[in-house]
Amino acid sequence: MIVTLRNSLSAHAENIFIESLKHLQAQYLRKKLYGKDLILIFNSDTQAIAKALSDNPSVERIDYSGKQYRLASSAWKPERTVIDIKGVKIGAGDVVTIAGPCSVESEEQIFSIAKMLSELGVQFIRGGAYKPRTSPYSFQGLGREGLRLIKSAADAYNLRVVTEIIDSSMIDEISEYADILQVGSRNMQNFFFLKQLGKVNKPILLKRGMYARIDEWLMAAEYILSEGNEEVILCERGIRTFDTSVRNTFDLAAIPLIHKLSHLPILADPSHGTGDRSLVPQMGLASVAAGADGVIVEVHPDPSRALSDGAQSLYPEQFREMYSGMKRVGEAIGRKVV
Ligand code: PEP
Ligand code: MN
Repeated sequence: MIVTLRNSLSAHAENIFIESLKHLQAQYLRKKLYGKDLILIFNSDTQAIAKALSDNPSVERIDYSGKQYRLASSAWKPERTVIDIKGVKIGAGDVVTIAGPCSVESEEQIFSIAKMLSELGVQFIRGGAYKPRTSPYSFQGLGREGLRLIKSAADAYNLRVVTEIIDSSMIDEISEYADILQVGSRNMQNFFFLKQLGKVNKPILLKRGMYARIDEWLMAAEYILSEGNEEVILCERGIRTFDTSVRNTFDLAAIPLIHKLSHLPILADPSHGTGDRSLVPQMGLASVAAGADGVIVEVHPDPSRALSDGAQSLYPEQFREMYSGMKRVGEAIGRKVV
């Protein structure tokens, strides 16, 4: 249950309210989110507490969360959430482009991609330094050296950094280098980890779990929000279905559906969504048409030599073409692709 307190309560009124919570034996957490003072109540039976608080003068409104996401819902917050990353706004109308290799592999590789992105006017670079691979014998990423490389390439070309975090022990390390912390599909339901990320002062890019329903994904976002981090960006990256002719089934309808159910921005990742570079450009364009707040895509200077996800990584030339196609689609629907 979520209790929204009235704005600018006096200290005295707050104390009285907190006393009444204690009296009701409420198990609660106090959080500030989107400028609202919230009391999140975790008791198993909230009926009696809700009844007792319903006419409390300090209370603006009470929302029953039941077993559903609430803070992530557009029912709770109808205004879209906008996340400002060093002056670039995600969720405010422009479609942001984030591009780069699956993994940071070398200085030469990441600098050549950064140069291309900045020449095109793209403002974000992606690249993993810690990779959650299916096999322990596959390339695991360059670790801190990878972080250092992507950050120096980003600084040289005035780009913002998106990189994956795979464990809560890395929060301080990755926060030093990244502007957005990416939570991968495999970690979407690592609830303890999500709670830790809820305490971080950095935007979180929460990818959809490969087996996750939309409500489970929004619940994962709720874990982060309910710990006080209001900057969550969702990312559709395809799900596993019975159809094995593609790596994943890209759920394009998730984009307008998320906009209906939630106030959080949603990006599309057609690279993991398809797993096949010949399908990525069309799905990137379709994502813009579907209303995505941004597109994140893998591009590599030489995909045949990529240490991870080469088959879905675009050639630089292909990326350029896709990016201009996205701009044309954006123009047709009145949205600027940046
Ligand atoms: C990635 O972005 O390279 C990645 C591992 O993505 P996902 O978690 O969606 O598989
Ligand atoms: Mn990848």
